[in-house]
Amino acid sequence: MNPKILILGPPGAGKGTQSERLATEFDVEHVTTGDALRANKEMDISDMDLEYDTPGEYMDQGDLVPDVVVDAMVEEALSDLDGFVLDGYPRNGDQAEALREMTDLDVVLVLDVPEEELVDRLTGRRVCEDCGANYHVEFNQPEEEGVCDKCGGELYQREDDNEESVRNRLSVYHDNTEPVLELYEDHDGYVEIDGDQTPDEVWDDVRSAVESNA
Ligand code: ADP
Ligand code: ADP
Ligand code: ZN
Repeated sequence: MNPKILILGPPGAGKGTQSERLATEFDVEHVTTGDALRANKEMDISDMDLEYDTPGEYMDQGDLVPDVVVDAMVEEALSDLDGFVLDGYPRNGDQAEALREMTDLDVVLVLDVPEEELVDRLTGRRVCEDCGANYHVEFNQPEEEGVCDKCGGELYQREDDNEESVRNRLSVYHDNTEPVLELYEDHDGYVEIDGDQTPDEVWDDVRSAVESNA
């Protein structure tokens, strides 16, 4: 059986970076609400009677997209999957409750990184437009500037990786998502990881955590 892994941590903690490696190493699907929502930024949600008519309007400001939209996406993505690494969800208590009803989890990883470091990581992030791989202009450079090592795709900067949106996302995390961590503290397979190390060092800890809990 393939492991069911949840990876938690603030924006910029390295969830996407470590999830890519987990997906390859443990042969599981990388399910990420951020990527799923970016692919559906212009989706018409005007019939849902929400504040805005598309997910993109919430995302560009760094606000949470409403639960009804995100819960349905995750439920759809997880159905039929044997193993997965879930990244970017849950981000509040109601989403955590929705997830509990959707699936069980073998491993719950939390990446800890100090706040000052997160701003530098997010404002320097570059993403492959084809495969979604994450790079950094300073901390995690591709071999050739602007080009993805894995697939040759072009790297771009996300619209919401500007300082203003980053600060808002960190405050949204603090208010909505941080309290969710407590709900998992006693969960089987819960492991806190020091995310303030090199990507390879973090990976060593992440891999052993999954190996000993899956
Ligand atoms: P980061 O990698 O910086 O944490 P993500 O790519 O996970 O950012 O998310 C980008 C944006 O997508 C968020 O700022 C938010 O607007 C939206 N989003 C992603 N996941 C969720 C979620 N679980 N609930 C609500 N909104 C979400
Ligand atoms: P998240 O998915 O949690 O928002 P990412 O994996 O996208 O985080 O990483 C955010 C940025 O930080 C990216 O530019 C990435 O290349 C870089 N990064 C990831 N892990 C590390 C690390 N251990 N040290 C320094 N930079 C990192
Ligand atoms: Zn790529």
